[in-house]
Amino acid sequence: MVNLRSALVLGIAQICHLGAVQATVSPQRMVHDLQALLSAGSEVMLASNASYAQDFTSRFSESHSPSFVVGAKPKKVSDIQKVVRYASQNNVPFLATGGGHGYTWSLGQLQNAIQIDLGNFQTVEIDTAANTMTVGGAVRIGNVTHDLVAVGKEFRMYGTASDNLLSAEVVTGTGELLNVSATSHPDLWYGLRGAGFNYGIATRLKYRIHPATNKGKVTVINAMFPAALNGSVWEACNSYVGHQPKELSILFAIRFNETLGGISPVGAFIYFGPKEEALKVVKPFLDLKPLYVEVHESNYAEFSSVALYQDVADIGSRKAIDFAPFTLNLYKVDVKNIVNVINYMNSSLTRNNDLKGATLSWAQYPLDGFLRYPVQSSAFAYRDVIVYFSIDGFTPEIAKLPLLDDFGKGLRSLLQLGSGRPDLETYVHFGHGDEGPRSWYSAAKLPRLSALKRVYDPHNLFRWYNPVPTIGH
Ligand SMILES: Cc1cc2nc3c(=O)[nH]c(=O)nc-3n(C[C@H](O)[C@H](O)[C@H](O)COP(=O)(O)OP(=O)(O)OC[C@H]3O[C@@H](n4cnc5c(N)ncnc54)[C@H](O)[C@@H]3O)c2cc1C
Repeated sequence: MVNLRSALVLGIAQICHLGAVQATVSPQRMVHDLQALLSAGSEVMLASNASYAQDFTSRFSESHSPSFVVGAKPKKVSDIQKVVRYASQNNVPFLATGGGHGYTWSLGQLQNAIQIDLGNFQTVEIDTAANTMTVGGAVRIGNVTHDLVAVGKEFRMYGTASDNLLSAEVVTGTGELLNVSATSHPDLWYGLRGAGFNYGIATRLKYRIHPATNKGKVTVINAMFPAALNGSVWEACNSYVGHQPKELSILFAIRFNETLGGISPVGAFIYFGPKEEALKVVKPFLDLKPLYVEVHESNYAEFSSVALYQDVADIGSRKAIDFAPFTLNLYKVDVKNIVNVINYMNSSLTRNNDLKGATLSWAQYPLDGFLRYPVQSSAFAYRDVIVYFSIDGFTPEIAKLPLLDDFGKGLRSLLQLGSGRPDLETYVHFGHGDEGPRSWYSAAKLPRLSALKRVYDPHNLFRWYNPVPTIGH
């Protein structure tokens, strides 16, 4: 509830916030100053410059995205520190960017900012004897998997990526460079793993790696199901809850299929084991007699290029798309509720062509890795999620976005009724941006995370991406 005191606090915070985004320098001046400040090999230019689109990483999503007036591509870590200090002193908002895959609509509040493109921080060093991998701040998982497979290692199955972090070098909101680990700044170490983007820019990260499961070989089984099996498919998913093999991930893309004349669930069963074993493990799905079945023998570095009939690879590489994303955590498979939601979606899409770009995604991962670490061990909020359920409203026409936004919001509310939790909870990186900090971080973690904000980002510079509030809840 908002009482008078909190209303005053919020009011004051709002005024400070508005004041903080009044830049004291023009974009031209920023370019001039930063070019003089940064070391040779760094790039600084106006975002209106023709080279900007080529040299700077573009974004996956066009919808409610940040806008940049200046691009800075630092060469060295000390250059990142200089940009952070310069931007802070001149009240210029900024965003560090890696792959540009962050799509939360909260980013739309960031306007006329400096983009700190971390494109020069792409190094990958693997130490097979020590079982460690050290990467630059902009390295993507796709950049490292080939190298890992080549040396018989992997980077999954043993917890989240943040669970396997051993140390990180971070430029904080004061412009300081800190080496953070379990023994160095242990308070920030907690926040960094699961909420790190709130506290600074990671320039170098050292991870634990592991011997590759099944020598890095993966079996991918794709299967398309007719609308009539809406129900049996979710019963089959439910049959794995509590005993899903740790080698098996179950994915579904659920969308309108013009040929089949209705909503069709398309599954990809990814199994880190031999083909014969995989076929036995996914028997409950194959027994339903899907329409088309494809079996691929692949490896850890390449399985995403065949999963879901190539759809996973296709979506990941797209740029500048308009879409309204919504996601929620399901803690149980409520078959009846899911059937109702899909039937409702089917009738809505049948009636309205403008909604046909709406896609539901189902990601049912094995829990073993998540449960290796207690929930108190880091800022990573939810470890017992049975299904990460996404409602993605894609559209080629921006004018249709509000329609897909409303539709997605409605579906999310319906799904929430059968989620197994009273309140909406979502993985922070999948959030739409309207859920709020409790949904992203959990009420239990917020006071500690807010306290860390005040120490490591006292000017609240990292406040654009589903942020931790500076004032505890
Ligand atoms: C098609 C698609 C599929 C996805 N699938 C998954 C998935 O399977 N699992 C999953 O976990 N996520 C997934 N995501 C979400 C994605 O991983 C997150 O949004 C992630 O933050 C993207 O990182 P980025 O560097 O590409 O994003 P950016 O848009 O560049 O950055 C996102 C946020 O991270 C901050 N940031 C980036 N680099 C750094 C750094 N070095 N130090 C500090 N802060 C930094 C940025 O400042 C910004 O606040 C998916 C996204 C898309 C578009």
